[in-house]
Amino acid sequence: MDPITALLADVLEEIRPGDSGAPASYIPELATADPERLAFAVVGPRGRVRSVGDDHVEFTIQSISKPFVLALALEVHGLDAVLQRVGAEPSGEPFNAISLEPVTGRPANPMINAGAIATSALIPGDDVDTRTARIVEMLSAFAGRSLWIDESVYSSESTTGDRNRALAHLLKSHGVIDGSVDVAVETYFRQCSILVSVRDLAIMAATLAFGGVNPVTGRRVVDERVARDVLSIMSSCGMYDFSGEWLLRVGLPAKSGVSGGLMSVAPSQFGVAAFSPRLDAHGNSVRAVALVEAASERFGMHLLEPHESVASPAMTLHEGDEGRVVRLGGELGYSGAERIVAVLREVASGLPDGAPLIVDARELGRTHPGALIALRGEFEDLPEWVWLQE
Ligand code: GLN
Repeated sequence: MDPITALLADVLEEIRPGDSGAPASYIPELATADPERLAFAVVGPRGRVRSVGDDHVEFTIQSISKPFVLALALEVHGLDAVLQRVGAEPSGEPFNAISLEPVTGRPANPMINAGAIATSALIPGDDVDTRTARIVEMLSAFAGRSLWIDESVYSSESTTGDRNRALAHLLKSHGVIDGSVDVAVETYFRQCSILVSVRDLAIMAATLAFGGVNPVTGRRVVDERVARDVLSIMSSCGMYDFSGEWLLRVGLPAKSGVSGGLMSVAPSQFGVAAFSPRLDAHGNSVRAVALVEAASERFGMHLLEPHESVASPAMTLHEGDEGRVVRLGGELGYSGAERIVAVLREVASGLPDGAPLIVDARELGRTHPGALIALRGEFEDLPEWVWLQE
């Protein structure tokens, strides 16, 4: 077993004995889930899926569909048009709350049911089947395989979905939904009934982690900006009224669903997913939360801790035929630019007058606008410069 899978297996066994919470029962079909199921998966930049536990068991995606349908709505309409129908503020309320802005009726965010129904209603198509096909196609591209709908969960949810239907009627009365309420709400029920495994969810999370490119298929699924927007909203709203504490403890964008799934994203590092049907009072899976929290801790993944790769970019010094060459690599951010300038000044001060100092930036993977701003203006006081950046 490789060290990463071993770590996952270790964390899984540590978390396994926890038996608090209960599977969701308001959708009758979900109440039949085996509460002992437990699975965990991680996908890194090269698309290798590592998973442990009940990793091939399928369950309905439920609310974890919301960020992906949001991605589709953003691709089709753009951020401003989507924000006219649904906000981007944490509601601090449960997932099925009537969190609508007083005058406009705009739902607080797309991660709670009201906002998700408003978002689904933005997917083009005249009927439920056309819209669902669009959604299934998008989620399949995120997962890298063809996904299907669990018809019995769908009909169970549709038969008992009065609260969601009521939310949809409220949205319609405020003009947040155009067209048929039934089409909007049945599309939403169908998107929640798409079957996934923890491996699928980890790949879907990884696709968001790598800027919208699925690391398994190599295919671009959404624009990098769309992936960033979705992750931003997941960061503040993905865990319902536990979102603030989650960000504090785990420090990663995440999304949970009532069937017990949870996915989380470490940008540029990996996608992670966990599954266990017993839920806490917020509607988040007790053991899936514990698994991802433990993994984030052991891998040291909190987004808001200092990141050295941005602060100190790779830099090597060579003696070339044309003069002294400083070669840069990796990612150049604002603070990294400051460090580079300090090194360049030192190197330049040791050079004879008029000797060229060449900065070879061709290996830089990414240069942040802040780095360019920090570098501009520094050039004048230094000796002859040559940038070889492409
Ligand atoms: N289909 C579920 C519902 O609308 C999704 C909720 C969830 O996963 N939190 O009630």
